[in-house]
This record gives sequence, C-alpha cells and structure tokens, in this order.
Amino acid sequence: MSKIRYPLSINQATTRKQWTLRQAIEGYARHDVRGIAVWRDKLDECGVDEAARLLSDHGMAVTGLCRGGMFPAADKAGLQAAIDDNLRAVDEAVAIGAQCLVLVCGGLPDESKDIVGARAMIRDGIAAIAPHARAAGMPLAIEPLHPMYAADRACINSMEQANDLCDELGAGVGIAVDVYHVWWDPYLKREIDRAAKADPQRLLAFHICDWLSPTTDILVDRGMMGDGVIDITEFRSMMEDVGYEGYAEVEIFSTRWWNTDPDEVVVTCIERHQSVC
Ligand code: ZN
Repeated sequence: MSKIRYPLSINQATTRKQWTLRQAIEGYARHDVRGIAVWRDKLDECGVDEAARLLSDHGMAVTGLCRGGMFPAADKAGLQAAIDDNLRAVDEAVAIGAQCLVLVCGGLPDESKDIVGARAMIRDGIAAIAPHARAAGMPLAIEPLHPMYAADRACINSMEQANDLCDELGAGVGIAVDVYHVWWDPYLKREIDRAAKADPQRLLAFHICDWLSPTTDILVDRGMMGDGVIDITEFRSMMEDVGYEGYAEVEIFSTRWWNTDPDEVVVTCIERHQSVC
C-alpha cells in the first residue's frame, strides 16, 4: 500500500477559542502547517481583504471556507435569506482562494416535522446557488453530518445521500468527507468509490479527528486522531485508493482542546497526523 501522507491542514475551529484568524494563520505557519480552513465569523472579524493578504503572505492553502448551507426555512423570506447568504459565502470563498465552500446543509425549520421537505429545500437551495458558484469556479462541498445532527444541523447524513445530491445537481457540487460523521457507515467504501467514479473532482475535502467512546457531548467532544475508535489509516487508504489528492484537514470541536495551549494543539495535530493518518 502506498504511503502518501496528505499534507496537513488545520480547520481553525480546532483553535477557535484561543486564536483569531490572524493568530491561527501565524500560529499554524509558525509550525509549518500550510493549510487552513477558515470560518466565516472569524473571517468577518478579520476582514476579507486583510485575511486574503495574511493567507497569501504565509503561503497558506485554504482547504475550505466554513460554512454555507443551512437552507431549510419556515417561509419564503427565510429561504431567500439563506440563498443570499450562501451567494455571499461563495464570493468570500473566492476572495480568500478557498478550495471549496463547505455546506452544512441545515436541519428542520422551527416547529417542522417534515424531514423530506427539509431535504427538498436543501436540494433546491444548492441548485439556486450552483450557477453562481460554477461561474465563480468555487466548488460546493456538501458535508454529510452524523445523523445525530439531522434535526438541527444537517439532514444530509450519509455519503449515499450526498452522492445522490451530487448526481442530481451536476458539476461543481461535491462532498467534504469527515471521518467523524461517516465512519460508522456500512456503505462507506462503496460510496467513496462511487463518488470518485462519478466525478474525479467530487471528493473535495477530507476532514479528520476521532470519535471518542463514550462521547460526552454531541457538539464539543470530538477527539484528537488516535484517541478514539475510528480506523483513520484505513479511512485514508480508501481515499487514496480512489485518487483523492487534497489535504487532510484536522477539525476538532472540543472543550478539552480549546482549553489547551494552542501551540500544543498544533504540535499534537502534527504528531498525530504523522503517526495515525
Ligand atoms: Zn468537517
């Protein structure tokens, strides 16, 4: 088996409590990590032009802008607001040279029990922004989220659903594969193969962290690679086997790691990336 180690990127959510965007760019670069995924609230705080300059000065690849999506809404005005916000997100992603705009697609609107309807709103929302994204050359990365987030964050929960959406929506729409969200899926390998076969550009990002057992909080108890139950080496080889050529992006939402010295977090990411991934 080949031993390509995907270059390391760190999603700034991993150090979001400790560092601003400027500090994260400088901090990752200090440890020679030259990939970063950026969050829009942090980008907004920094300013898009300033961020673009900092990213370029530090030679950072931007492996994604987080996040677009959140399409379902209770009424027409809400749906349109979501589309408008996503169009702005596409422009921001272009401005900082992101490799993709990550879509956390959205859950159920308030008071709704209509998950089928919510999924239709997601499809229609992505279809509404896809022409602009395509024209701007910005790939849209649907990120299937673990089913425990179906109600409030994303009711696209499996690689199969994401592939179905990509098939329907066409070029320029792909998938962000996050080990945390899809490691449990019995059809994982089949769907990774399917994605690459349908479109060699479909696999847009590879997010890594670990699933702690037991998990004590569904939002902020993600593990550092190697501390949990996901066979990340095996997962990586599935991505390698189909020719994925991007970065491995560490994305850890964790109270524990947010309460750790951020330089130590980065060093640990680098070590685990080398030993586990
Ligand atoms: Zn992710």
